[in-house]
Amino acid sequence: MCGIFGYIGKRTDSAKIVFDGLKSLEYRGYDSWGVAVLSKSSLKIFTKKAAGKIGNNNVNALPDGNIAIGHTRWATHGGVTDTNSHPHSDCSGNISIIHNGIFENYEDYKKKLVQKGHKFISETDTEVISHLVEDFSKKLTFSDSVKKTFNLMTGLNAIIAVKLIEDRIVAIRNGSPLVVGFGQDENFLASDASALLPFTKDVYFLEDDEMVILERGKVRVSNVKTGKIVRFKKQKLNWNVDQGEMGKYSSFMLKEINEQPKILREIAMSAGKNVEKISKIIKKSRGSYLVGCGSASYAAMAGTYLFSKIAGRHINFAIGSEFGYHLDFLNKDSLVIPISQSGETIDILESMKKAKERGAGIVSLVNVLGSSLYRMSDEKILIGAGPEKSVASTKALTGMIAHLVLLSFSLDGGVKKGKKALLEAANSIKKILSGKDSKNIKKLADIICDSKNIYVIGRGLSYPTALETAMKIKEISYIHAEGLAAGELKHGPLALVTKGTPCIAFLPNDETYGANLAGAMEMKARGGFVIGISFKSHEVFDYYIQVKDVGIATMIPNIVVGQLLAYFLTIKKGLDVDKPRNLAKSVTVK
Ligand code: GLU
Repeated sequence: MCGIFGYIGKRTDSAKIVFDGLKSLEYRGYDSWGVAVLSKSSLKIFTKKAAGKIGNNNVNALPDGNIAIGHTRWATHGGVTDTNSHPHSDCSGNISIIHNGIFENYEDYKKKLVQKGHKFISETDTEVISHLVEDFSKKLTFSDSVKKTFNLMTGLNAIIAVKLIEDRIVAIRNGSPLVVGFGQDENFLASDASALLPFTKDVYFLEDDEMVILERGKVRVSNVKTGKIVRFKKQKLNWNVDQGEMGKYSSFMLKEINEQPKILREIAMSAGKNVEKISKIIKKSRGSYLVGCGSASYAAMAGTYLFSKIAGRHINFAIGSEFGYHLDFLNKDSLVIPISQSGETIDILESMKKAKERGAGIVSLVNVLGSSLYRMSDEKILIGAGPEKSVASTKALTGMIAHLVLLSFSLDGGVKKGKKALLEAANSIKKILSGKDSKNIKKLADIICDSKNIYVIGRGLSYPTALETAMKIKEISYIHAEGLAAGELKHGPLALVTKGTPCIAFLPNDETYGANLAGAMEMKARGGFVIGISFKSHEVFDYYIQVKDVGIATMIPNIVVGQLLAYFLTIKKGLDVDKPRNLAKSVTVK
Protein backbone atom coordinates (compact mmCIF):
# COMPACT_ATOMS: atom_id res chain seq x y z
CA MET A 1 0.00 0.00 0.00
CA CYS A 2 1.16 3.56 -0.64
CA GLY A 3 4.31 4.23 -2.60
CA ILE A 4 7.13 6.54 -1.67
CA PHE A 5 9.98 7.69 -3.87
CA GLY A 6 12.63 10.31 -3.17
CA TYR A 7 15.64 11.61 -5.07
CA ILE A 8 18.55 13.88 -4.21
CA GLY A 9 21.59 14.28 -6.43
CA LYS A 10 23.40 15.50 -9.48
CA ARG A 11 20.49 15.24 -11.93
CA THR A 12 18.13 18.17 -12.37
CA ASP A 13 15.16 16.22 -13.72
CA SER A 14 14.40 14.93 -10.24
CA ALA A 15 10.63 15.42 -10.64
CA LYS A 16 10.64 13.08 -13.65
CA ILE A 17 12.84 10.52 -11.85
CA VAL A 18 10.45 10.50 -8.91
CA PHE A 19 7.40 10.40 -11.17
CA ASP A 20 8.81 7.34 -13.00
CA GLY A 21 9.64 5.81 -9.62
CA LEU A 22 6.00 6.24 -8.60
CA LYS A 23 4.90 4.54 -11.79
CA SER A 24 6.97 1.50 -10.89
CA LEU A 25 5.26 1.48 -7.50
CA GLU A 26 1.74 1.71 -8.94
CA TYR A 27 1.25 -2.02 -8.55
CA ARG A 28 1.15 -1.60 -4.77
CA GLY A 29 -2.29 -0.02 -5.11
CA TYR A 30 -3.22 3.63 -4.57
CA ASP A 31 -5.96 6.15 -5.11
CA SER A 32 -4.06 9.41 -5.68
CA TRP A 33 -0.55 10.62 -6.37
CA GLY A 34 1.73 13.62 -6.10
CA VAL A 35 5.26 14.95 -6.65
CA ALA A 36 7.05 17.93 -5.11
CA VAL A 37 10.31 19.39 -6.37
CA LEU A 38 12.56 21.96 -4.74
CA SER A 39 13.57 24.68 -7.16
CA LYS A 40 16.73 26.50 -6.14
CA SER A 41 16.39 29.18 -8.80
CA SER A 42 12.95 30.34 -7.72
CA LEU A 43 13.40 29.38 -4.06
CA LYS A 44 10.12 27.58 -4.02
CA ILE A 45 8.66 24.09 -3.69
CA PHE A 46 6.49 23.18 -6.69
CA THR A 47 3.89 20.45 -6.27
CA LYS A 48 1.70 18.53 -8.66
CA LYS A 49 -0.83 16.19 -7.13
CA ALA A 50 -4.16 14.69 -8.07
CA ALA A 51 -6.78 12.15 -7.05
CA GLY A 52 -7.02 9.09 -9.28
CA LYS A 53 -4.48 7.05 -11.20
CA ILE A 54 -1.35 8.48 -12.80
CA GLY A 55 -2.63 7.38 -16.23
CA ASN A 56 -1.45 9.74 -18.94
CA ASN A 57 -0.41 12.46 -16.53
CA ASN A 58 3.14 13.81 -16.49
CA VAL A 59 5.24 16.26 -14.51
CA ASN A 60 6.62 18.19 -17.49
CA ALA A 61 5.33 21.45 -16.04
CA LEU A 62 7.39 21.06 -12.87
CA PRO A 63 10.70 22.96 -12.87
CA ASP A 64 14.22 21.53 -12.65
CA GLY A 65 15.59 20.73 -9.24
CA ASN A 66 18.00 18.34 -7.55
CA ILE A 67 15.58 17.19 -4.85
CA ALA A 68 12.12 15.71 -5.30
CA ILE A 69 9.74 13.49 -3.37
CA GLY A 70 6.67 11.61 -4.56
CA HIS A 71 3.82 9.57 -3.14
CA THR A 72 1.01 7.29 -4.17
CA ARG A 73 -1.69 7.52 -1.52
CA TRP A 74 -3.96 4.89 -0.04
CA ALA A 75 -6.44 7.15 1.71
CA THR A 76 -7.14 6.50 5.36
CA HIS A 77 -7.97 9.97 6.70
CA GLY A 78 -9.97 12.19 4.39
CA GLY A 79 -11.56 11.42 1.05
CA VAL A 80 -9.78 10.72 -2.21
CA THR A 81 -9.39 14.32 -3.41
CA ASP A 82 -6.68 16.43 -5.03
CA THR A 83 -6.25 18.43 -1.82
CA ASN A 84 -5.90 15.36 0.38
CA SER A 85 -3.23 13.86 -1.91
CA HIS A 86 0.36 14.07 -0.73
CA PRO A 87 2.79 15.93 -0.53
CA HIS A 88 1.40 18.29 2.10
CA SER A 89 2.96 21.58 3.00
CA ASP A 90 3.02 23.82 6.05
CA CYS A 91 1.61 27.39 6.25
CA SER A 92 4.73 28.92 4.70
CA GLY A 93 4.94 26.46 1.82
CA ASN A 94 8.62 25.91 2.68
CA ILE A 95 8.15 22.38 4.00
CA SER A 96 6.78 19.40 2.11
CA ILE A 97 5.82 16.05 3.64
CA ILE A 98 4.76 12.65 2.42
CA HIS A 99 3.54 9.98 4.74
CA ASN A 100 2.63 6.33 4.80
CA GLY A 101 0.52 4.97 7.61
CA ILE A 102 -1.79 6.42 10.22
CA PHE A 103 -0.89 9.20 12.65
CA GLU A 104 -3.25 7.82 15.28
CA ASN A 105 -3.15 10.71 17.77
CA TYR A 106 -3.21 13.51 15.19
CA GLU A 107 -6.40 15.12 16.46
CA ASP A 108 -4.89 16.35 19.73
CA TYR A 109 -2.07 18.06 17.87
CA LYS A 110 -4.31 19.45 15.16
CA LYS A 111 -6.44 21.22 17.77
CA LYS A 112 -3.39 22.80 19.39
CA LEU A 113 -1.95 23.88 16.05
CA VAL A 114 -5.27 25.46 14.99
CA GLN A 115 -5.31 27.39 18.28
CA LYS A 116 -1.81 28.62 17.46
CA GLY A 117 -3.10 29.94 14.14
CA HIS A 118 -2.00 27.20 11.71
CA LYS A 119 -4.24 26.95 8.65
CA PHE A 120 -5.20 23.49 7.44
CA ILE A 121 -6.47 22.88 3.96
CA SER A 122 -6.84 19.09 3.86
CA GLU A 123 -8.66 16.52 6.00
CA THR A 124 -5.59 14.31 6.39
CA ASP A 125 -3.64 13.27 9.43
CA THR A 126 -0.52 13.89 7.31
CA GLU A 127 -0.97 17.65 7.09
CA VAL A 128 -0.63 17.82 10.88
CA ILE A 129 2.92 16.49 10.45
CA SER A 130 3.82 19.38 8.12
CA HIS A 131 2.58 21.98 10.60
CA LEU A 132 4.24 20.30 13.57
CA VAL A 133 7.57 20.31 11.71
CA GLU A 134 7.00 23.97 10.85
CA ASP A 135 6.28 24.77 14.48
CA PHE A 136 9.30 22.93 15.86
CA SER A 137 11.54 24.40 13.14
CA LYS A 138 11.26 27.78 14.84
CA LYS A 139 13.59 26.49 17.56
CA LEU A 140 15.14 23.30 16.27
CA THR A 141 17.09 22.23 13.21
CA PHE A 142 15.05 20.75 10.39
CA SER A 143 16.03 17.13 11.08
CA ASP A 144 15.44 17.56 14.82
CA SER A 145 11.99 18.99 14.09
CA VAL A 146 11.12 16.00 11.94
CA LYS A 147 12.47 13.69 14.63
CA LYS A 148 10.53 15.42 17.40
CA THR A 149 7.34 15.25 15.35
CA PHE A 150 7.83 11.56 14.61
CA ASN A 151 8.43 10.76 18.27
CA LEU A 152 5.06 12.30 19.15
CA MET A 153 3.23 10.14 16.65
CA THR A 154 1.59 6.87 17.63
CA GLY A 155 0.84 4.23 15.02
CA LEU A 156 2.89 2.64 12.26
CA ASN A 157 4.28 5.32 10.00
CA ALA A 158 6.93 6.40 7.54
CA ILE A 159 7.48 10.09 6.84
CA ILE A 160 9.64 11.89 4.32
CA ALA A 161 10.33 15.57 4.71
CA VAL A 162 12.04 18.26 2.66
CA LYS A 163 12.51 21.95 3.34
CA LEU A 164 13.65 24.83 1.20
CA ILE A 165 17.34 25.73 1.45
CA GLU A 166 18.04 22.45 3.28
CA ASP A 167 19.97 20.29 0.84
CA ARG A 168 18.67 17.05 2.27
CA ILE A 169 15.79 14.63 2.56
CA VAL A 170 14.90 13.50 6.05
CA ALA A 171 12.97 10.26 6.46
CA ILE A 172 11.95 8.10 9.41
CA ARG A 173 10.05 4.84 9.61
CA ASN A 174 8.30 2.64 12.10
CA GLY A 175 6.38 -0.27 10.62
CA SER A 176 6.02 1.08 7.09
CA PRO A 177 8.88 -0.01 4.82
CA LEU A 178 11.59 2.37 3.53
CA VAL A 179 14.69 1.48 1.55
CA VAL A 180 17.66 3.75 0.84
CA GLY A 181 19.34 3.36 -2.56
CA PHE A 182 22.96 4.47 -3.00
CA GLY A 183 24.19 6.02 -6.26
CA GLN A 184 27.19 8.05 -7.46
CA ASP A 185 26.70 11.61 -6.25
CA GLU A 186 23.01 10.83 -5.81
CA ASN A 187 20.84 8.88 -3.41
CA PHE A 188 17.34 7.48 -3.47
CA LEU A 189 14.58 6.47 -1.14
CA ALA A 190 11.68 4.14 -1.87
CA SER A 191 9.04 2.10 -0.13
CA ASP A 192 10.01 -0.89 -2.22
CA ALA A 193 13.44 -2.08 -3.31
CA SER A 194 12.27 -3.08 -6.80
CA ALA A 195 11.65 0.61 -7.62
CA LEU A 196 15.36 1.28 -7.07
CA LEU A 197 16.56 -1.35 -9.56
CA PRO A 198 16.86 1.03 -12.57
CA PHE A 199 19.30 3.14 -10.52
CA THR A 200 21.17 0.97 -8.08
CA LYS A 201 21.42 -2.43 -6.43
CA ASP A 202 23.16 -1.06 -3.32
CA VAL A 203 20.54 -0.55 -0.68
CA TYR A 204 19.92 -0.25 3.02
CA PHE A 205 16.57 -1.23 4.54
CA LEU A 206 15.79 1.16 7.38
CA GLU A 207 14.91 -0.49 10.67
CA ASP A 208 12.05 0.69 12.86
CA ASP A 209 12.74 4.05 14.51
CA GLU A 210 15.64 4.81 12.22
CA MET A 211 16.03 8.22 10.66
CA VAL A 212 17.98 8.73 7.48
CA ILE A 213 19.38 12.05 6.33
CA LEU A 214 20.03 11.80 2.61
CA GLU A 215 22.40 14.24 1.02
CA ARG A 216 23.81 14.20 -2.47
CA GLY A 217 27.02 12.48 -1.48
CA LYS A 218 26.28 11.33 2.05
CA VAL A 219 23.83 9.15 3.94
CA ARG A 220 23.53 9.25 7.72
CA VAL A 221 21.34 6.98 9.80
CA SER A 222 20.47 7.36 13.46
CA ASN A 223 17.96 5.97 15.92
CA VAL A 224 15.24 8.48 16.80
CA LYS A 225 14.60 6.99 20.22
CA THR A 226 18.20 6.75 21.46
CA GLY A 227 19.72 9.47 19.26
CA LYS A 228 22.62 7.13 18.52
CA ILE A 229 24.31 7.02 15.10
CA VAL A 230 23.66 3.72 13.31
CA ARG A 231 26.60 2.14 11.51
CA PHE A 232 24.66 0.52 8.74
CA LYS A 233 25.77 -2.06 6.20
CA LYS A 234 24.69 -1.82 2.57
CA GLN A 235 23.02 -4.83 0.98
CA LYS A 236 23.17 -5.89 -2.66
CA LEU A 237 19.86 -6.60 -4.35
CA ASN A 238 19.82 -9.93 -6.15
CA TRP A 239 17.14 -8.98 -8.70
CA ASN A 240 17.65 -7.61 -12.20
CA VAL A 241 15.88 -4.59 -13.59
CA ASP A 242 14.11 -6.53 -16.39
CA GLN A 243 12.62 -8.92 -13.82
CA GLY A 244 10.52 -6.02 -12.60
CA GLU A 245 9.34 -4.99 -16.07
CA MET A 246 6.43 -6.25 -18.13
CA GLY A 247 8.51 -7.02 -21.22
CA LYS A 248 6.60 -8.62 -24.07
CA TYR A 249 3.52 -9.39 -21.98
CA SER A 250 0.30 -7.40 -21.83
CA SER A 251 0.13 -7.55 -18.03
CA PHE A 252 2.33 -8.39 -15.07
CA MET A 253 -0.03 -11.20 -14.12
CA LEU A 254 0.39 -12.93 -17.46
CA LYS A 255 4.15 -12.45 -17.29
CA GLU A 256 4.30 -13.81 -13.75
CA ILE A 257 2.11 -16.82 -14.59
CA ASN A 258 4.46 -17.64 -17.46
CA GLU A 259 7.56 -17.35 -15.30
CA GLN A 260 6.46 -20.21 -13.06
CA PRO A 261 8.08 -23.19 -14.81
CA LYS A 262 11.45 -21.44 -14.76
CA ILE A 263 11.11 -20.40 -11.12
CA LEU A 264 10.08 -23.87 -10.00
CA ARG A 265 13.08 -25.33 -11.79
CA GLU A 266 15.37 -22.81 -10.14
CA ILE A 267 13.91 -23.57 -6.71
CA ALA A 268 14.35 -27.30 -7.30
CA MET A 269 17.93 -26.93 -8.52
CA SER A 270 19.05 -24.57 -5.79
CA ALA A 271 17.70 -26.65 -2.89
CA GLY A 272 20.66 -27.48 -0.76
CA LYS A 273 22.06 -27.13 2.73
CA ASN A 274 19.60 -24.44 3.80
CA VAL A 275 16.59 -26.76 3.45
CA GLU A 276 18.35 -29.40 5.50
CA LYS A 277 19.37 -26.90 8.16
CA ILE A 278 15.82 -25.62 8.45
CA SER A 279 14.26 -29.04 8.55
CA LYS A 280 16.54 -29.79 11.50
CA ILE A 281 15.24 -26.68 13.26
CA ILE A 282 11.67 -27.79 12.57
CA LYS A 283 12.40 -31.25 13.95
CA LYS A 284 13.81 -29.81 17.15
CA SER A 285 10.90 -27.46 17.80
CA ARG A 286 8.01 -28.41 20.03
CA GLY A 287 4.86 -26.88 18.62
CA SER A 288 5.16 -25.12 15.30
CA TYR A 289 2.94 -22.87 13.20
CA LEU A 290 2.74 -21.93 9.56
CA VAL A 291 1.28 -18.44 9.24
CA GLY A 292 0.24 -16.45 6.18
CA CYS A 293 -2.29 -13.96 4.83
CA GLY A 294 -4.31 -14.24 1.62
CA SER A 295 -2.78 -16.61 -0.90
CA ALA A 296 0.15 -17.19 1.46
CA SER A 297 -2.36 -18.54 3.98
CA TYR A 298 -3.36 -21.20 1.44
CA ALA A 299 0.31 -22.08 1.03
CA ALA A 300 0.52 -22.35 4.81
CA MET A 301 -2.56 -24.56 4.89
CA ALA A 302 -1.11 -26.72 2.10
CA GLY A 303 2.01 -27.01 4.27
CA THR A 304 0.03 -28.76 7.00
CA TYR A 305 -1.07 -31.46 4.52
CA LEU A 306 2.40 -31.75 2.98
CA PHE A 307 4.15 -32.09 6.34
CA SER A 308 1.63 -34.70 7.42
CA LYS A 309 1.52 -36.70 4.18
CA ILE A 310 5.21 -36.66 3.32
CA ALA A 311 6.92 -36.44 6.68
CA GLY A 312 4.26 -37.64 9.13
CA ARG A 313 4.70 -34.41 11.06
CA HIS A 314 2.13 -32.24 12.70
CA ILE A 315 2.26 -28.51 12.14
CA ASN A 316 -0.39 -25.93 13.03
CA PHE A 317 -1.72 -23.31 10.70
CA ALA A 318 -3.08 -19.83 11.32
CA ILE A 319 -4.11 -16.82 9.25
CA GLY A 320 -1.86 -13.84 10.02
CA SER A 321 -4.64 -11.65 11.40
CA GLU A 322 -5.83 -14.48 13.69
CA PHE A 323 -2.44 -15.64 14.87
CA GLY A 324 -2.43 -13.12 17.72
CA TYR A 325 -5.18 -15.20 19.33
CA HIS A 326 -3.06 -18.37 19.30
CA LEU A 327 -0.07 -16.86 21.01
CA ASP A 328 -0.85 -18.38 24.41
CA PHE A 329 0.60 -21.66 23.17
CA LEU A 330 3.97 -20.20 22.28
CA ASN A 331 7.13 -20.52 24.32
CA LYS A 332 10.86 -20.69 23.70
CA ASP A 333 10.63 -24.19 22.19
CA SER A 334 8.00 -23.13 19.64
CA LEU A 335 8.76 -22.36 16.05
CA VAL A 336 6.80 -20.03 13.81
CA ILE A 337 7.12 -20.13 10.02
CA PRO A 338 5.62 -16.95 8.58
CA ILE A 339 5.07 -16.95 4.81
CA SER A 340 4.97 -13.67 2.93
CA GLN A 341 5.77 -12.39 -0.56
CA SER A 342 6.60 -8.82 0.44
CA GLY A 343 7.83 -9.48 3.96
CA GLU A 344 5.98 -6.29 4.92
CA THR A 345 2.46 -7.60 5.61
CA ILE A 346 1.49 -5.83 8.78
CA ASP A 347 -0.54 -8.69 10.31
CA ILE A 348 2.46 -10.97 9.90
CA LEU A 349 4.99 -8.49 11.26
CA GLU A 350 2.91 -7.67 14.32
CA SER A 351 2.29 -11.34 15.09
CA MET A 352 5.97 -12.15 14.69
CA LYS A 353 6.96 -9.39 17.12
CA LYS A 354 4.62 -10.92 19.70
CA ALA A 355 5.87 -14.45 18.97
CA LYS A 356 9.44 -13.27 19.48
CA GLU A 357 8.52 -11.67 22.79
CA ARG A 358 7.42 -15.14 23.89
CA GLY A 359 10.77 -16.56 22.88
CA ALA A 360 9.54 -18.50 19.82
CA GLY A 361 11.96 -19.03 16.95
CA ILE A 362 11.10 -17.47 13.57
CA VAL A 363 11.99 -19.12 10.26
CA SER A 364 10.49 -17.12 7.42
CA LEU A 365 9.60 -18.03 3.86
CA VAL A 366 9.84 -14.66 2.16
CA ASN A 367 10.36 -13.28 -1.34
CA VAL A 368 11.87 -9.86 -0.68
CA LEU A 369 15.46 -9.86 0.49
CA GLY A 370 16.02 -7.37 3.28
CA SER A 371 12.30 -6.85 3.96
CA SER A 372 11.14 -6.34 7.54
CA LEU A 373 10.18 -9.99 7.94
CA TYR A 374 13.48 -11.10 6.44
CA ARG A 375 15.37 -9.01 8.95
CA MET A 376 13.42 -10.01 12.02
CA SER A 377 13.69 -13.76 11.36
CA ASP A 378 16.23 -16.07 12.97
CA GLU A 379 16.50 -18.05 9.73
CA LYS A 380 15.01 -17.48 6.31
CA ILE A 381 14.28 -19.16 3.03
CA LEU A 382 14.18 -16.74 0.12
CA ILE A 383 11.36 -17.79 -2.20
CA GLY A 384 13.32 -16.73 -5.28
CA ALA A 385 10.32 -15.73 -7.40
CA GLY A 386 11.78 -12.34 -8.38
CA PRO A 387 9.72 -9.15 -8.14
CA GLU A 388 6.00 -9.87 -8.19
CA LYS A 389 3.99 -6.85 -9.31
CA SER A 390 0.53 -8.08 -10.09
CA VAL A 391 -1.69 -7.63 -7.03
CA ALA A 392 -2.99 -11.17 -7.43
CA SER A 393 -0.15 -13.44 -6.39
CA THR A 394 0.83 -16.21 -8.78
CA LYS A 395 4.52 -17.10 -8.97
CA ALA A 396 5.22 -16.16 -5.34
CA LEU A 397 2.46 -18.51 -4.19
CA THR A 398 3.59 -21.49 -6.26
CA GLY A 399 7.15 -20.68 -5.13
CA MET A 400 6.02 -20.86 -1.49
CA ILE A 401 4.38 -24.23 -2.06
CA ALA A 402 7.48 -25.48 -3.86
CA HIS A 403 9.64 -24.69 -0.83
CA LEU A 404 7.14 -26.39 1.47
CA VAL A 405 7.29 -29.49 -0.75
CA LEU A 406 11.09 -29.47 -0.47
CA LEU A 407 10.98 -28.94 3.28
CA SER A 408 8.50 -31.79 3.74
CA PHE A 409 10.66 -34.19 1.74
CA SER A 410 13.73 -32.98 3.58
CA LEU A 411 12.01 -33.69 6.93
CA ASP A 412 11.57 -37.21 5.64
CA GLY A 413 15.23 -37.38 4.66
CA GLY A 414 14.66 -37.33 0.90
CA VAL A 415 14.98 -33.86 -0.55
CA LYS A 416 15.88 -35.38 -3.94
CA LYS A 417 12.33 -36.72 -4.29
CA GLY A 418 11.08 -33.19 -3.66
CA LYS A 419 13.28 -31.81 -6.43
CA LYS A 420 12.02 -34.43 -8.84
CA ALA A 421 8.41 -33.63 -7.99
CA LEU A 422 9.00 -29.92 -8.62
CA LEU A 423 10.70 -30.52 -11.96
CA GLU A 424 7.72 -32.61 -13.05
CA ALA A 425 5.35 -29.88 -11.87
CA ALA A 426 7.34 -27.32 -13.89
CA ASN A 427 6.97 -29.43 -17.05
CA SER A 428 3.28 -29.91 -16.43
CA ILE A 429 2.81 -26.12 -16.11
CA LYS A 430 4.75 -25.57 -19.30
CA LYS A 431 2.34 -27.83 -21.11
CA ILE A 432 -0.70 -26.04 -19.62
CA LEU A 433 0.67 -22.66 -20.67
CA SER A 434 1.46 -23.61 -24.22
CA GLY A 435 -1.33 -23.74 -26.75
CA LYS A 436 -4.11 -26.28 -26.46
CA ASP A 437 -4.66 -26.41 -22.69
CA SER A 438 -4.57 -22.68 -22.32
CA LYS A 439 -7.12 -22.30 -25.17
CA ASN A 440 -9.32 -24.84 -23.45
CA ILE A 441 -9.27 -22.78 -20.24
CA LYS A 442 -10.00 -19.59 -22.20
CA LYS A 443 -13.01 -21.28 -23.82
CA LEU A 444 -14.30 -22.20 -20.37
CA ALA A 445 -13.93 -18.56 -19.27
CA ASP A 446 -16.06 -17.52 -22.26
CA ILE A 447 -18.77 -19.97 -21.17
CA ILE A 448 -18.94 -19.03 -17.48
CA CYS A 449 -17.99 -15.33 -17.51
CA ASP A 450 -21.56 -14.14 -16.90
CA SER A 451 -22.06 -16.36 -13.85
CA LYS A 452 -22.93 -14.73 -10.56
CA ASN A 453 -21.45 -17.51 -8.43
CA ILE A 454 -18.84 -20.20 -8.90
CA TYR A 455 -18.15 -23.02 -6.45
CA VAL A 456 -14.80 -24.77 -6.25
CA ILE A 457 -14.34 -28.03 -4.37
CA GLY A 458 -11.39 -30.11 -3.27
CA ARG A 459 -10.20 -32.39 -0.51
CA GLY A 460 -6.78 -32.78 1.06
CA LEU A 461 -4.25 -30.69 -0.85
CA SER A 462 -6.98 -29.78 -3.31
CA TYR A 463 -8.84 -27.95 -0.51
CA PRO A 464 -6.30 -25.08 -0.30
CA THR A 465 -6.15 -25.32 -4.11
CA ALA A 466 -9.92 -24.73 -4.21
CA LEU A 467 -9.66 -21.83 -1.76
CA GLU A 468 -6.88 -20.25 -3.81
CA THR A 469 -8.75 -20.67 -7.11
CA ALA A 470 -11.87 -19.09 -5.65
CA MET A 471 -9.81 -16.21 -4.23
CA LYS A 472 -8.11 -15.60 -7.57
CA ILE A 473 -11.45 -15.55 -9.40
CA LYS A 474 -13.10 -13.14 -6.99
CA GLU A 475 -10.20 -10.76 -6.51
CA ILE A 476 -9.66 -9.98 -10.18
CA SER A 477 -12.84 -10.92 -12.08
CA TYR A 478 -15.22 -9.78 -9.30
CA ILE A 479 -17.33 -12.93 -9.72
CA HIS A 480 -18.36 -14.35 -6.39
CA ALA A 481 -16.50 -17.64 -5.99
CA GLU A 482 -16.34 -19.91 -2.98
CA GLY A 483 -13.76 -22.55 -2.26
CA LEU A 484 -14.98 -25.51 -0.26
CA ALA A 485 -13.80 -28.72 1.29
CA ALA A 486 -15.95 -31.08 -0.76
CA GLY A 487 -17.15 -32.86 2.36
CA GLU A 488 -18.75 -29.62 3.55
CA LEU A 489 -21.10 -29.36 0.59
CA LYS A 490 -23.89 -31.26 2.30
CA HIS A 491 -23.51 -29.11 5.41
CA GLY A 492 -24.86 -26.04 3.69
CA PRO A 493 -23.41 -24.78 0.40
CA LEU A 494 -25.19 -27.41 -1.72
CA ALA A 495 -28.38 -25.39 -1.15
CA LEU A 496 -26.91 -22.72 -3.43
CA VAL A 497 -26.28 -24.98 -6.41
CA THR A 498 -29.01 -24.54 -9.02
CA LYS A 499 -29.33 -25.22 -12.73
CA GLY A 500 -26.21 -24.11 -14.56
CA THR A 501 -24.14 -23.04 -11.49
CA PRO A 502 -20.47 -23.54 -12.41
CA CYS A 503 -18.92 -26.07 -10.00
CA ILE A 504 -15.20 -26.66 -10.34
CA ALA A 505 -13.85 -29.91 -8.90
CA PHE A 506 -10.14 -30.62 -8.44
CA LEU A 507 -9.64 -34.36 -8.87
CA PRO A 508 -5.98 -35.33 -8.80
CA ASN A 509 -4.86 -38.94 -8.78
CA ASP A 510 -4.66 -39.29 -5.00
CA GLU A 511 -6.65 -40.68 -2.09
CA THR A 512 -9.23 -37.91 -2.39
CA TYR A 513 -10.36 -38.87 -5.91
CA GLY A 514 -13.38 -41.01 -5.11
CA ALA A 515 -14.84 -38.83 -2.38
CA ASN A 516 -14.27 -35.69 -4.38
CA LEU A 517 -15.93 -37.19 -7.42
CA ALA A 518 -18.93 -37.89 -5.20
CA GLY A 519 -19.03 -34.16 -4.41
CA ALA A 520 -18.99 -33.34 -8.12
CA MET A 521 -21.88 -35.77 -8.63
CA GLU A 522 -23.88 -34.16 -5.83
CA MET A 523 -23.51 -30.81 -7.56
CA LYS A 524 -24.38 -32.31 -10.92
CA ALA A 525 -27.56 -33.85 -9.43
CA ARG A 526 -28.66 -30.30 -8.42
CA GLY A 527 -28.14 -29.01 -11.96
CA GLY A 528 -24.57 -27.77 -11.51
CA PHE A 529 -22.33 -27.30 -14.54
CA VAL A 530 -19.47 -29.51 -13.46
CA ILE A 531 -15.94 -28.59 -14.50
CA GLY A 532 -13.47 -31.36 -13.77
CA ILE A 533 -9.78 -30.57 -13.40
CA SER A 534 -8.20 -33.98 -13.37
CA PHE A 535 -5.71 -36.42 -14.86
CA LYS A 536 -8.55 -38.29 -16.58
CA SER A 537 -11.97 -37.42 -17.89
CA HIS A 538 -15.23 -38.65 -16.37
CA GLU A 539 -18.80 -38.72 -17.62
CA VAL A 540 -19.97 -36.45 -14.80
CA PHE A 541 -17.90 -33.57 -16.20
CA ASP A 542 -19.68 -31.02 -18.36
CA TYR A 543 -16.27 -29.53 -19.08
CA TYR A 544 -12.89 -31.13 -18.71
CA ILE A 545 -9.43 -29.68 -18.18
CA GLN A 546 -6.62 -32.19 -18.14
CA VAL A 547 -3.76 -31.86 -15.68
CA LYS A 548 -1.10 -34.51 -15.79
CA ASP A 549 -0.55 -36.51 -12.62
CA VAL A 550 2.75 -35.45 -11.09
CA GLY A 551 2.12 -37.00 -7.70
CA ILE A 552 2.05 -34.81 -4.63
CA ALA A 553 3.17 -31.74 -6.59
CA THR A 554 0.04 -31.87 -8.81
CA MET A 555 -1.47 -29.14 -6.67
CA ILE A 556 0.97 -26.67 -8.25
CA PRO A 557 -0.18 -27.11 -11.89
CA ASN A 558 -3.76 -27.30 -10.59
CA ILE A 559 -3.29 -23.85 -9.05
CA VAL A 560 -1.95 -22.60 -12.39
CA VAL A 561 -5.17 -23.74 -14.10
CA GLY A 562 -7.09 -21.66 -11.53
CA GLN A 563 -4.82 -18.66 -12.20
CA LEU A 564 -5.41 -18.89 -15.95
CA LEU A 565 -9.15 -19.26 -15.53
CA ALA A 566 -9.26 -16.15 -13.30
CA TYR A 567 -7.05 -14.33 -15.79
CA PHE A 568 -9.23 -15.16 -18.82
CA LEU A 569 -12.46 -14.33 -16.93
CA THR A 570 -11.03 -10.92 -16.09
CA ILE A 571 -9.82 -10.20 -19.61
CA LYS A 572 -13.18 -11.31 -21.01
CA LYS A 573 -14.90 -8.82 -18.69
CA GLY A 574 -12.57 -6.05 -19.83
CA LEU A 575 -11.09 -5.48 -16.36
CA ASP A 576 -7.53 -4.61 -15.32
CA VAL A 577 -5.94 -7.91 -14.22
CA ASP A 578 -3.02 -6.26 -12.44
CA LYS A 579 -4.89 -3.69 -10.40
CA PRO A 580 -8.14 -5.00 -8.97
CA ARG A 581 -10.40 -2.46 -7.31
CA ASN A 582 -10.02 -1.79 -3.56
CA LEU A 583 -6.92 -3.98 -3.25
CA ALA A 584 -3.22 -3.26 -2.76
CA LYS A 585 -0.24 -5.48 -3.33
CA SER A 586 1.28 -5.45 0.11
CA VAL A 587 -0.99 -4.76 3.03
CA THR A 588 1.08 -2.52 5.27
CA VAL A 589 -1.83 -0.82 7.07
CA LYS A 590 -4.18 -2.60 9.50
N1 GLU B 1 -3.00 8.51 6.50
C1 GLU B 1 -2.53 9.18 5.34
C2 GLU B 1 -3.66 9.67 4.46
O1 GLU B 1 -4.76 9.24 4.57
C3 GLU B 1 -1.53 8.35 4.56
C4 GLU B 1 -2.15 7.19 3.86
C5 GLU B 1 -1.14 6.36 3.06
O2 GLU B 1 -0.43 5.56 3.69
O3 GLU B 1 -1.10 6.50 1.84
O4 GLU B 1 -3.49 10.51 3.65
